[in-house]
Amino acid sequence: MTEAKLSTFSAPKGTYDLIPPDSETFLAVREAIAAPLRSAGYGYIETPVFEDVKLFSRGVGESTDIVTKEMYSLTTKGGDELALRPEGTASVLRAALQANLHRVGNLPVKLWYSGSYYRYEKPQAGRYRQFSQVGAEAIGAEDPALDAELIILAVDAYRSLGLKNFRLLLNSLGDRECRPVYRAALQDFLRGLDLDEDTLRRAEINPLRVLDDKRESVQKQLTGAPLMRDHLCEDCKAYHEQVRELLTAAGVAFEDDPKLVRGLDYYTRTTFEFVHDGLGSQSAVGGGGRYDGLSEMIGGPALPSVGWALGVDRTVLALKAEGVETAVPARTQVFAVPLGEQARQVLFGLVTEARRAGVAADIAFGGKGLKGAMKSADRSGARWAVVAGERDLADGVVQLKDLTTGDQTPVAVTALVTTLKEKLS
Ligand code: ATP
Ligand code: MG
Repeated sequence: MTEAKLSTFSAPKGTYDLIPPDSETFLAVREAIAAPLRSAGYGYIETPVFEDVKLFSRGVGESTDIVTKEMYSLTTKGGDELALRPEGTASVLRAALQANLHRVGNLPVKLWYSGSYYRYEKPQAGRYRQFSQVGAEAIGAEDPALDAELIILAVDAYRSLGLKNFRLLLNSLGDRECRPVYRAALQDFLRGLDLDEDTLRRAEINPLRVLDDKRESVQKQLTGAPLMRDHLCEDCKAYHEQVRELLTAAGVAFEDDPKLVRGLDYYTRTTFEFVHDGLGSQSAVGGGGRYDGLSEMIGGPALPSVGWALGVDRTVLALKAEGVETAVPARTQVFAVPLGEQARQVLFGLVTEARRAGVAADIAFGGKGLKGAMKSADRSGARWAVVAGERDLADGVVQLKDLTTGDQTPVAVTALVTTLKEKLS
């Protein structure tokens, strides 16, 4: 009695299945995010869903929640220490370095990806243990236009979906020159606050992340905290100003958010997040920034880079919150209803021919009678039904029925596919 009853299985906690018709919205979102990237010279990359755990502990950062609390790590039978990828950037950079893309191609190497990511989080609306992102990385160039390009491409993707109530939050985290000075100033400030032990420890390891603390009690104490904005060196200030100017010129509105730090350790200079106001506390629909030090952290050469990842799950929720319908094409255009065995063979052949000619066609399966098959035709969303019995076939015709008007006309079997193509064009 150890065998579980099949009917008792359900998707693991924090995960969910993508099922038609909602699954179509997911595809539409992925497509919409990918399209602007493709036309801006980004090439598609796919990496394994698991990697050496050290790639993430080094690349994402030992002091981040992602690494300390949320990572799915495992030891294989062979003793390898692996982790399910919690994010995409470290893997993409690892793959680019491994393939020497930074040596063979022109810099920047521009890549985009789409896939599922894994974090052991407390599941709730908009927060899952397996979620989906589309991301983009531009590796090996330090140029404010590249930061601006990526942000504009994300905004254009959201806009193309019809999304309106999203906002762009923007900040600069400084660089190797100015951040250490700021970090020390912030640390001094934090040491004087009334914080719990965990937070004080975080203040020692990665004080910037304390700014990101969601608790009201902490945020209250942070008023008056020194801000990176006031500590940027001249280079960082000029760089940030150029990003802002390019965004403004492109008609992209943003809000300066001097406390925006984001969860990962590797960010430098430009940092941004997209938030949507219809999602409650899981409001971040996407985020990214510049990560000039990451390549060296994972053993590569100096390669200043910038990228983002947009959450597909939350973008779908945002579309729902705004009541936006993504244009999903009615899939089946023609539905075949065979009456009898001979008709089944002929119509199956015609359906195959129609599909090869680019007409989306389906047929009633399972020996359904006329009534059941016509119901299937209606449900399929098809505009046309092709009905045929022995008598029609003896006359060399099938009946073409317009499912919106109910009108029916005989069409020669040999002319069916051309007729359908004409009617559908
Ligand atoms: P949050 O602050 O909500 O935890 P994050 O800063 O951890 O988000 P990123 O690592 O920047 O998120 O990932 C980019 C995007 O991926 C997020 O803006 C969000 O849309 C999505 N995302 C991240 N974690 C999850 C999750 N557990 N479930 C669903 N989507 C997620
Ligand atoms: Mg998170």
